[in-house]
Amino acid sequence: MPYQPIPLTNMPPDGHATSPTNPAAQSHAGAGAGAGVTINADTSAETSDPLATKTAVDSLYIHVPFCFHKCHYCDFYSIVDTQQRQARFADALICELTQLADQYLLQPTTIFAGGGTPTLLEPIHWQRFLRVAQTLGILNRIHEFTVEANPETVTDELAHILATGGVNRISIGAQSFNPTLLKTLERWHEPANVQRSMTRLRNAGINNINLDLIFGIPGQTLDNLADDIDRALALQPTHLSCYSLTFEPKTALTARRDRGEIQPIDTGIDRDMYAYLLDRLDDAGYDHYEISAWSKRPPPHPPTHSPTLYPHATPAHVTSPTLPLAATCVLDTNNTRPPIDYRCQHNLAYWRNQNWLGIGPGAASHINNQRWKNLPHLARYIDTSPTPARIDHEHLTHAEQQSELLMMGLRLRDGIAIEPAQFPTHTQQEIQRYITVKMLEYHHNRLRFTREGLFVADCILADLIPS
Ligand code: SF4
Repeated sequence: MPYQPIPLTNMPPDGHATSPTNPAAQSHAGAGAGAGVTINADTSAETSDPLATKTAVDSLYIHVPFCFHKCHYCDFYSIVDTQQRQARFADALICELTQLADQYLLQPTTIFAGGGTPTLLEPIHWQRFLRVAQTLGILNRIHEFTVEANPETVTDELAHILATGGVNRISIGAQSFNPTLLKTLERWHEPANVQRSMTRLRNAGINNINLDLIFGIPGQTLDNLADDIDRALALQPTHLSCYSLTFEPKTALTARRDRGEIQPIDTGIDRDMYAYLLDRLDDAGYDHYEISAWSKRPPPHPPTHSPTLYPHATPAHVTSPTLPLAATCVLDTNNTRPPIDYRCQHNLAYWRNQNWLGIGPGAASHINNQRWKNLPHLARYIDTSPTPARIDHEHLTHAEQQSELLMMGLRLRDGIAIEPAQFPTHTQQEIQRYITVKMLEYHHNRLRFTREGLFVADCILADLIPS
C-alpha cells in the first residue's frame, strides 16, 4: 500500500502523517550532507563543486498513477487509463527527475515507487527510467529501492528488468488470501498469484519482499484473519504491513456502507484482530517496529569471541591473508557488524522527517521543513512537463515541526527521545495524562505507546496536538 506522509494540516482521523525523531542523528548522506542539511558553499573560498550549494535528498518517491481497476477502498491518486499515456507519462517522469537532479544533490539512500500500480508500467518504460536514473547517478548510494506490485502484474521479464536496474525490494499488495473478502474490497487479483509473484521475484534475485494485508474487512472473522496470516507467513516475507481497513471519504466502499450494503465490523473485533496480530507475528519471529509494520527478526550474532571476517562490509577494511588476494574483507574484532535490518528504510525516512522528493502526479515532497505536492492530474502532469504544477505548499513553523516530530515519532515502537517541556502546555498535560492511565510510557528515556495505547493510538495522537 503506497505510503506518503500527509501534511499535518490535512491530517485524517486515522493519523497517517510524518515526522522526525532526531534529524541530526539521521544523516545518511555522508560528508556532511545529512538529513535536512543544506550544504552552503563557503563564500570565503572559491569552490569548483556545483553540488556544494545543493540540498541533499535522502529519499525519492515515484508515483505511478496507473491501475487496471479501482479498488473500492482506495483513495490514492490512481486512474484506469484508457488513452495509453504510459509512454508520455514515462517521458514526463524522466524529465522531472532530470530537472530535479540538476537542482538538488539527488543521491538518495532509499527510493520507493508507489501508486497506483508501478508494476503496471510496461517493462520498456521501467528500463528507460532506470537507465536514466543510473546515468544521473541517482542510484549511486541506494540502500533500498522498493517497487510496489499488484500480484497480477509481476512477470519474469519485469522482475528481471527491475532487479538488474537496481530494485532490491518489492511490496506486494496481497490484502487478503480470501476470495470473498477480496471481492468485498473489489480488489482484483487471484490469491495464488501472490506466491507466483514471489517466486518470479526471487528467481530474479529480489528476496526482500513485503506483503500488505488489510484486516477489519466487512464480513471478516478472527479465523479468517488467522488463515490470512498463516498463508502469508508460509510465503516467508521479510516484512508485513497490516492495515486496519479505513472507510475513506468519497470511496466506493464508503458509499456502499452509507447505502447500507455492507456493515463495518464491530470495533471490539477489530481490536481483537490487532491483538492477534501483535501476538501471532511476534511468535512467528517478526518485530513490531511501527504501528502497522513488522519486519522479520534478524538472526542473532554468531556466538564467537574470535575476530570475524565479513566480506564487503564496514568499518575497517583489511586484506585477509587467508583469502584470495583480491578479497577485501572486514576484520570485525568486536562482532560489531550491524544485523540484517528488514525494516522499511524508506518509511523510516518519513517517520524521521528526513528530506525526500516526490516525482509523478500527486507525489508529495518534504525538503528542509517545506512541503508541497504535485498536482494529482495525469494530463496536466504530462502537459506541464518538466515542471508540474505544485499545490499545498507550506513552510512548517517551529511549532508545526515539533508537532510532527511527536506525531510521527510516536508511530515507531522505539518511540522518540523528547523533552515534554519543548511542547505547548496542552501537549505536556496530555502526555502526562496518558502516562498516568498507562497508554504512554517512557522506555529507555524514549516516549512511546504502551501495548494498551497502541489500540487507541490514533485517538491519543489527535489529543496530543490541539487542532
Ligand atoms: S491497486 Fe492500489 S492504488 Fe490501485 S486502486 Fe487498488 S489500492 Fe488503489
